[in-house]
Amino acid sequence: MRNVAVLGATGSIGASALDVIARHPDRLRATVLAAGRNVEALVALCTVHHPLHAVIADPTGLPALEAGLRAAGLATQAHAGDGILDALVASDACDTVVAAIVGAAGLPSTLAAARAGKRILLANKESLVLAGELLMQAAHDNGATIVPVDSEHNAIFQCLPDAHAHAGLSRIVLTASGGPFRGRARAELATVTPEQAVAHPKWSMGPKISVDSATLMNKGLEVIEAHHLFGVDGDRIGVWVHPQSLVHSLVEFVDGSTLAQLGLPDMRTALAVGFGWPERISSGVSGLDLLAQGGRLDFEAPDLEAFPCLRLAFEALAAGGTAPAVLNAANEIAVSAFLQRRIGFLAIPALVEQTLDALPATPATSLEVLHEADREARHLAGQSIQRMAVPA
Ligand code: NDP
Ligand code: MG
Repeated sequence: MRNVAVLGATGSIGASALDVIARHPDRLRATVLAAGRNVEALVALCTVHHPLHAVIADPTGLPALEAGLRAAGLATQAHAGDGILDALVASDACDTVVAAIVGAAGLPSTLAAARAGKRILLANKESLVLAGELLMQAAHDNGATIVPVDSEHNAIFQCLPDAHAHAGLSRIVLTASGGPFRGRARAELATVTPEQAVAHPKWSMGPKISVDSATLMNKGLEVIEAHHLFGVDGDRIGVWVHPQSLVHSLVEFVDGSTLAQLGLPDMRTALAVGFGWPERISSGVSGLDLLAQGGRLDFEAPDLEAFPCLRLAFEALAAGGTAPAVLNAANEIAVSAFLQRRIGFLAIPALVEQTLDALPATPATSLEVLHEADREARHLAGQSIQRMAVPA
């Protein structure tokens, strides 16, 4: 029996993870559920899954969480605040952690799980972008198993399960759906709205990653994620736009072989791989009938002029040190301002580039240095938005 902590339980990945867990009562049990602010949704999940612990990050949510659990007659213990989550993740309450908090807020708990040697189903790509080397080192030193559940990285993991013994690997190719604005020229993107940006053609996801998919920053973050997970430098990571979203990524070997993983775009497949590995368990997702899907697999090069975020991510990876942390932090601020209609769509890459230029990379010698770079980038990007000084 795996005892699972689902961090970000009220989100899109959280829902998919709990769906897979509920299909396997004989081998999977949700023992810790954690959310940010949405007490009502968290209580509703507790009534279905009966975890031992429920955690709400926002401390003001504790009384409502306690009252909700009591009213539902549950024995689940209520907790609030960030520190308790790190302690619970490291405790005997779980052996498996679904890291699905959105943004850099997911780093401390993911790191705690790595230090405690847990199996980590890693969705929170921002934690790898921010502190990939430290996180991978902590996992290695403490015997933690990281199974990436970001669909592209999960595909590569399936093609390359022995992630650090790949002498014959020559290149990784990440596929990208291209998002809702694929095929549009830069000038056509100036007036797109948050509603249009989050209407992803293939995947149903939370708002932040949906905007990242529309700017192609999601693919940029994934390039950095792949570098850390698989030890491959940026010049050996390719990106192909693949509008059908059926080939989730490809791995090329020196002998001319290419392996790919295919499947319907449904995150439950990757999560089932993470829970079951090395066994295969059912996910609720049906097999891929390529003929029924139209029988076509198309691929094209990404348009870096219309979607500069992908270029910025490759540049931040090449610069190294604190640059990826700055990229990620500026992007989080920009996406949140875009969703609040404070800046336009084209201001997202502009703000990220401006922040990267203002904060040149320094060596990432410690977690504190990275946190400081993250704080500085958020501050600078926030100031630019306030002064309306974002070029576009
Ligand atoms: P959602 O916005 O749907 O969910 C985010 C979750 O994080 C919510 O449960 C939210 O709680 C919780 N949360 C936010 N801040 C905190 C905090 N400080 N402490 C604890 N919980 C917090 O996002 P997604 O599920 O789409 O994405 C989650 C992560 O997975 C992201 O890093 C994303 O990049 C990655 N990912 C997602 C994919 C997808 O298909 N959705 C695919 C690949 C990767 P609350 O509801 O209370 O706000
Ligand atoms: Mg992905």
